[in-house]
Amino acid sequence: MSEKWKGLGVNDPRKIFADERLRGRCVFCGAKPDTKDHCPSKTLLDEPYPADLRVVLACLKCNNSFSLDEQYLACFLECAICGSTNPDEVTRDSVKQTLREQPKLVASIAASLSLSPDGTKIWKPDMDRVRNVVVKLARGHLDYELCLQEWRDPDVFEITPMPLMTPDQLEFFENPDPGPATLWPEIGSRAFLRMLPSGDKINDDWQDIQDGRYRYLVGQTQGNFVHIAISEYLACRVTWE
Ligand SMILES: [Zn+2]
Repeated sequence: MSEKWKGLGVNDPRKIFADERLRGRCVFCGAKPDTKDHCPSKTLLDEPYPADLRVVLACLKCNNSFSLDEQYLACFLECAICGSTNPDEVTRDSVKQTLREQPKLVASIAASLSLSPDGTKIWKPDMDRVRNVVVKLARGHLDYELCLQEWRDPDVFEITPMPLMTPDQLEFFENPDPGPATLWPEIGSRAFLRMLPSGDKINDDWQDIQDGRYRYLVGQTQGNFVHIAISEYLACRVTWE
């Protein structure tokens, strides 16, 4: 590695030196940023939190607009994974507490549960709320990794419970074909730093934020894509072509 890049930590937000013009806007809507937002939100992680929680620039309106939906997604997922809306029967401490404190949220999650003819539990999430959160997360990860902002609606949005995925779907989710590197990361972005000899390779680079709880992968082939695995249960794929 040349002297110029030495000491640049890819996970240290203070050390990213990409063009400031690319970093002066809310990553979720493009407005002037007033604040910073954790991405992923702490709601999707467990305590003790990882030491280097990632942040992106956000306007106050966006920063405040996701928290209820993030809480909904965290609770919904945990209830679906554990098969119950009873706080005593879920695993995550933060979700137990939320379920105890918010009977309306419990009722709305319980109402989304039905039984198939063979008695299997079917959980049907509020897709508007899930989409709101997942697209937000994808935008944040794109900005964090590639210094790229996508304010358009994504071209592809898929969420699938991992236990329902076919082996081929799972393989593609875990190892998307990187293809030729037709797009080069912004100089100074974290992806650029990871492509340097001492770094890892782009497109083969799941970022493990918390073991068993949250990881994501960002790449560029025909457009920009983000894969996110939440609680090793929900596989999310968001693509801008
Ligand atoms: Zn905003």
